[in-house]
Amino acid sequence: MDRKEKIIITQRVNSNIDYNEQIHIPNFIQDHGVLLVLQEPDLDIIQVSSNTEEWLNIPPENLLEQNIECLLYSHQIDNIRQNLAGDFEYINPLQLSIKCGNEVRLFNSIIHRNDGVVILELEACEDESGLDFSQFYQLTFPIINKIQKSGNLHELCEIVVKEIRKITEFDRVMIYKFHPDDSGEVIAEDKREDQEAYLGLHYPAYDVPQVARAVFSVKFIRTIPNINSSIVELVPKFNPLTNQLLDLTFSVLRGVSPCHIEYLDNMGVMGSMSISLVKEEKLWGLIACHHQSVKYIPYDKQVICEFLGKIMSIHIPMREQNDNLDYKVSLKSVQSEVIKIISESDDLLNVITNIGSKLLTIVGATGSVISLEGEYHKIGITPSDAEITELINWLKNQMNTDIYSTDSLPIIYPSAKKFKESVGGLLVLEIAKLQEVYVLWFRPEVSQTVNWAGNPEYPIEIESDGKMKLCPRKSFEQWQEIVKFHSLPWQSYEIQGAQEFKSAIVGIVMRRISELAKINLELEKSNNELDSFTYIASHDLKEPLRGIHNYSTFLIEDYGEILNEDGRAKLDTLVRLTQRMEDLINALLFFSRLGRQELHKSSIDLNKLIENVAEVVRMSKPGSSIEIRKMENLPGIYGDKILMEEVFSNLINNAVKYNKKEDKIVKIGYEETEESASIIYVKDNGIGIREKHLETIFKIFKRLHGKDKFGGGTGVGLTIVKKIIERHGGQIWLESKYGEGTTFYVKLWNQ
Ligand code: ADP
Repeated sequence: MDRKEKIIITQRVNSNIDYNEQIHIPNFIQDHGVLLVLQEPDLDIIQVSSNTEEWLNIPPENLLEQNIECLLYSHQIDNIRQNLAGDFEYINPLQLSIKCGNEVRLFNSIIHRNDGVVILELEACEDESGLDFSQFYQLTFPIINKIQKSGNLHELCEIVVKEIRKITEFDRVMIYKFHPDDSGEVIAEDKREDQEAYLGLHYPAYDVPQVARAVFSVKFIRTIPNINSSIVELVPKFNPLTNQLLDLTFSVLRGVSPCHIEYLDNMGVMGSMSISLVKEEKLWGLIACHHQSVKYIPYDKQVICEFLGKIMSIHIPMREQNDNLDYKVSLKSVQSEVIKIISESDDLLNVITNIGSKLLTIVGATGSVISLEGEYHKIGITPSDAEITELINWLKNQMNTDIYSTDSLPIIYPSAKKFKESVGGLLVLEIAKLQEVYVLWFRPEVSQTVNWAGNPEYPIEIESDGKMKLCPRKSFEQWQEIVKFHSLPWQSYEIQGAQEFKSAIVGIVMRRISELAKINLELEKSNNELDSFTYIASHDLKEPLRGIHNYSTFLIEDYGEILNEDGRAKLDTLVRLTQRMEDLINALLFFSRLGRQELHKSSIDLNKLIENVAEVVRMSKPGSSIEIRKMENLPGIYGDKILMEEVFSNLINNAVKYNKKEDKIVKIGYEETEESASIIYVKDNGIGIREKHLETIFKIFKRLHGKDKFGGGTGVGLTIVKKIIERHGGQIWLESKYGEGTTFYVKLWNQ
């Protein structure tokens, strides 16, 4: 095999090409045996393979509708009948002497039930003796002993490939392990010295299509002695009981898909055998055996191989646990330390400070973020706050269980490619969705080199009728692929560490949440009280105020002439003061409601919003020279439209109001930020604000001028603006030069 190198940057090949071929109902068998379909309970022959004459000296038509008595002796039939109640697991494999016309021939046979019928398969028996129990025991016992002594997965696989090769004498025996993405890797190999090594090669997922995997997970052994076997059809074509093609899932002679034959041929393989390796009821891998020439494996040896496959399957979980033992032990010890720290504290913030970088060690991460009460507590290397916010928003729709992990975040979440820190893998715990309590762990991207057996691109051909056909790969030359955007995978014991962490902190978090709920309840109560207070203020106080105002007005109207000028001036002041008091009460009312009212957020076109506000400002000051210059294409923002109008109306009004220039110029523009937020500014050429007042102007009722100067005012406008911005998660600040002008900056999130 020439070594070819190609560096491609790609994501791993996806698995699920649907193999249209129904490999379990090929309707033909391989030619090294005979298949008989029997109907229970009498065991009448209802369907046979078309090669019966060759093997049994009887043509198919003479067998159909006959009873099995025509082939077997009564003690053999009795033996089969006794097992009809079960699944024949106690009698396979059988050695049967069969009446073949004038002679009796010896066959190895396997019997099973499927598709509502009994299927009897016969293969010529070369050796009359077969394996008895003591031979079986002698052969398997030392192997099982070795398997039991194996320390880890690597040792286990090495033993199995060597022993299976010794028993079967295949040219090559490999252990082929499936990865989570369904691609496979050769993790152990024993082979003829002159053959090239496949050890370490990866095979794309479609090399073992889903349908084949389904069959492998129920039928544990598969032999193909000769890929050049002729096709032996069944007679009649359909199973007479179901009128469907006979289901050959469990048949040992099942015909081989032409595509698979081509695949083996391209690999230089003529005979093969595969044994399924199953872990926790899922297909974990295969023991794959290849031979360059025709290779028959007698049933008794097949049984031994299948048996060893099962023994190996039982040992896989334990041996996997022993892999990376040192790392696992150190991980466990840090995990216990962390659990101890958690059990000794009752405040999550304390926990975070006390465990420090151990939070990273428990799952083998390089960065972690705990999102708690709107704040991100970061340890190690993490993305920025804005990136985390976006990521959490994405995760909310992504997570349907309380734990989520990926070793290829940038592929499923492309924004991660732009993170300022490299992130390949993410592990997330959702502690409380509603309260947005999450723990995130990050792992950096690690470029991995994968050696593929051949080019791992899809071998799909589009046929002339438009149908997609999967074609076997022709080339098995080594291809190197550099896989980007991946981290090292999260191991099950690391994920388990995360889960244990969750169980330990969940109590503390829940306690905190219920405390917060209590505080919220109290807050709501006092808000309600404040609400009634503001209602009283607005309603009850306004009533006598209205009275004072009305009576003062009546006094001016009815007795104005009797009073002297000083008296009339005092009454005018009284009217003005009542008006001002009403304005203050109204402003207070608006402000108190603002803190509690629900925000109705939507995408807002700032261009339109500012144009509308500017129009109103211009119209309210008809005689003045006002120029409001808006930058084109202001960004879209996300917020409550009515409240945003309030913000910009206040800022633009102030820019015009606190301005003594003949030509009042207001400029509105924006600056992009690194996060998905924009900074909008409102700049005027007005009177400016002294440095010492820059903070205080946001305080309620704070005015920098006499109450009637610059057209009067309540001193509540900027307080309201700040409150609205903060409720939108934004910020407001200003720069000013006394006598020259002021610029207000507002940072708001884009849609
Ligand atoms: P009001 O305008 O009702 O007084 P605001 O809360 O809007 O209340 O503003 C508070 C104070 O801040 C104003 O009284 C004014 O002294 C000062 N101020 C606000 N905007 C500007 C501005 N653009 N230029 C100069 N001073 C300003």
